[in-house]
Amino acid sequence: MRESSGIIEGLEERLQAVRAEVARAARTAGRAPDDIRIVAVSKTFPADAVRAVHAAGQRDFGESYVQEAVAKMDALADLDITWHFIGPIQSNKTRVIAERFAWVHSVDRLKIAERLAAQRPVALPPLQVCLQVNISGETTKSGVVPDDLAALARSVDGLGSLRLRGLMAIPEPTDDPRVQHARFAAVRALLDDLAGHGLALDTLSMGMSDDLPAAVAEGATMVRIGRAIFGARPPVP
Ligand SMILES: *Cc1c(COP(=O)(O)O)cnc(C)c1O
Repeated sequence: MRESSGIIEGLEERLQAVRAEVARAARTAGRAPDDIRIVAVSKTFPADAVRAVHAAGQRDFGESYVQEAVAKMDALADLDITWHFIGPIQSNKTRVIAERFAWVHSVDRLKIAERLAAQRPVALPPLQVCLQVNISGETTKSGVVPDDLAALARSVDGLGSLRLRGLMAIPEPTDDPRVQHARFAAVRALLDDLAGHGLALDTLSMGMSDDLPAAVAEGATMVRIGRAIFGARPPVP
């Protein structure tokens, strides 16, 4: 457990620093800091680290791998946590996602949305859904292409037991703030387009540890932050 306590040291300070960075970016953009929700991305980090970040007041946590997430949920069942699924979705994992998560950010196909809707237990509130959009063209495979977004959004919006909330994007990594701003502005424009189609959505899930300020400046309402809170991730085997 020595390794685990090494990870836990400094977590509260790092969370506070991320909160301060979000607040600074929000004020610079003339936005209220409270309009931006931080999702702490705990993939690859142990349940003890999640517990420590929760103790510092964090309630939203994001996971990318279903099996790993479920083990952590079981270990942390005594805590009030809102779990967000943010990873690629395989068809054979939709049932567990529908049963165990409150939010899914990475829906990019109707077939997956239909499975999630059919498998969402009736006793639970609707599953909160974001559609993942591919705004970096060839460089990434995940996400619906902008041309197909409106049709997908209309179909998903019609599914009971899901509630379509907005869009998620993972732009290609770049240090160039101009490119970061351009990509996030493009996602924002897609959300505005959907409003023109009669879909009034309220969520823009965009921004990670390295591009948080640009995302907040362009209208992010949820930022998904891993390394800036938990530290460097061990390489995924
Ligand atoms: C891992 C991950 C994050 C967090 O990335 P960091 O660079 O660690 O902040 C955010 N979103 C998704 C979809 C991820 O897979």
